[in-house]
Amino acid sequence: MIPIKHCLHQLLDWFQVHGRDLPWRQTYDPYQVWVSEIMLQQTQMERVVIYFKRWLQRFPDIDTLAAADENEVLNYWEGLGYYSRARNLHRAAQLLAGQGGTLPAAYEILITLPGIGPYTAGAIMSIAFNRDYPVVDANIERIFSRIFNISTPVKSRANKTFIWEKAGRLLPVGKSRFFNQSLMELGALVCLPGKPLCTNCPLAGCCQAQHLGLVRERPVLLPKKKSVFIEMATGLLIRDGKILIQKRRADDVWGNLWEFPGGRLKEGESPEQGVVREFYEETGLRIARTARITSVRHSYMHYRVTLHGFYCETTADEKGEPALHAAQENRWVTFSELRDFAFPAGHRKLIDFLRESGARGQKP
Ligand code: SF4
Repeated sequence: MIPIKHCLHQLLDWFQVHGRDLPWRQTYDPYQVWVSEIMLQQTQMERVVIYFKRWLQRFPDIDTLAAADENEVLNYWEGLGYYSRARNLHRAAQLLAGQGGTLPAAYEILITLPGIGPYTAGAIMSIAFNRDYPVVDANIERIFSRIFNISTPVKSRANKTFIWEKAGRLLPVGKSRFFNQSLMELGALVCLPGKPLCTNCPLAGCCQAQHLGLVRERPVLLPKKKSVFIEMATGLLIRDGKILIQKRRADDVWGNLWEFPGGRLKEGESPEQGVVREFYEETGLRIARTARITSVRHSYMHYRVTLHGFYCETTADEKGEPALHAAQENRWVTFSELRDFAFPAGHRKLIDFLRESGARGQKP
């Protein structure tokens, strides 16, 4: 076994040859590195590259982002999920815009900005500014669990501390930009969760798990959180060719996003009963007739959501305007205007279904 320190040159050389040509790697502009790091949390690289380019066209710098309307920011984020990341980016940009509009090369300041924790601050400090800060993400945890053959859960507090310390000690002075990225890249391309490609790995000579034939056993994971299945129903009410949408309260799940009225089904309730009840509770409007559109599925964290969509029609004498019992604002919009509003994933899937099936704006 070769000591790990002796493999680091090979790792850096490997990155020079195999590192992917990503848009933020052209200039290492701090704002771009920051945006890419936030987008990459919980989202796959291919998708991030598409969204990143679109984002940069509309919000090329901190000042432009700070001046934008939050709805537009969320709209550009739609499809990446976990909207708090976009809201935090926006809020942080507004704070920075008031102080000169640049991202400071100071860990102590970065860590105080909304949405920036130790990992992101370290990533910005090293990748954008090439300062000697270690980073540890899930890819790096996996690599370290293998090269050091960690036989207890990699996400335990003790192991997290151990890995952060190792990452700091191994960091070659003045090379953090490439060192940290080379580890991240190795985890994404070679030291894969299921089938690591050890024969292509620059660290193979110093990897304890590979040496001991324990690669498949590492990392040791904590038991998975059980999935929670949720059923929801939502309704499209159409008047004069326009559809009712409402904006969720800021402190709600999916805060400030738009939706069709609806909510979670109660035990024993059918989706039709649920949409009628929810519509009345949220808007004060009585639904007389429903027609099923489709059901879509989506997941967030460990929740598995089935969303049943319905066209809804109010009773003949129900001509009043919807109340705001569960939302901060509502609007009547055309089908094509729906694209200008940010919706949670399930509602967006429903809209996509209507667009693709050509059934938009129909009444029951
Ligand atoms: S040798 Fe295999 S298990 Fe070890 S770091 Fe490389 S890819 Fe991962």
